[in-house]
Amino acid sequence: MAAQDSTAVSRRAFLGGHDPTDVMPWTTSEIMREACTGCGACVEACPEGILHQGRGGHPVLDFSSPCTFCAACAEACPEPVFDLERDPPWTAVAVVASGCLEPQGIACRACEDACDHDALRARPMLGGRAEMRVDADACTGCGGCVPVCPTGAIQIREQEPADA
Ligand code: SF4
Ligand code: SF4
Ligand code: SF4
Repeated sequence: MAAQDSTAVSRRAFLGGHDPTDVMPWTTSEIMREACTGCGACVEACPEGILHQGRGGHPVLDFSSPCTFCAACAEACPEPVFDLERDPPWTAVAVVASGCLEPQGIACRACEDACDHDALRARPMLGGRAEMRVDADACTGCGGCVPVCPTGAIQIREQEPADA
């Protein structure tokens, strides 16, 4: 068995077992790195309590519950980090990693049931197994599927722009 990254493990333990992301709506990780001073105003403002201060004080989203896209974080920020004109707010979508139970023949599909946007679908495979597929056009990156996954297999990741 491959050794796990101890930093990732400790971050997961700290953030409630979910894989956190430093991507935020209405900005990009690149802009965040350049413009965020780590003041923590967004963290204080989030009514869902899903933001924490990570490296350099920069916000990380723990997805212990979904992001409602309420924009309180962006409105509280005193720096030019967020652009509320961005539509959609970000390019982040759910990604199902190798820990998913369905390809192993273990019935689950908790994420499919949790998604309000019909963005997660099981694609049947041989032997009663299935592969969970994300419809990137339907997925908002809200993270509603993250806390229901019993194996922590779902991550929210920023997609590369199509013309990059
Ligand atoms: S949009 Fe709202 S729920 Fe989502 S991280 Fe920002 S403050 Fe929290
Ligand atoms: S991130 Fe939200 S929209 Fe995307 S698959 Fe998960 S629950 Fe559905
Ligand atoms: S909730 Fe997790 S383990 Fe269950 S089907 Fe979805 S990705 Fe797989």
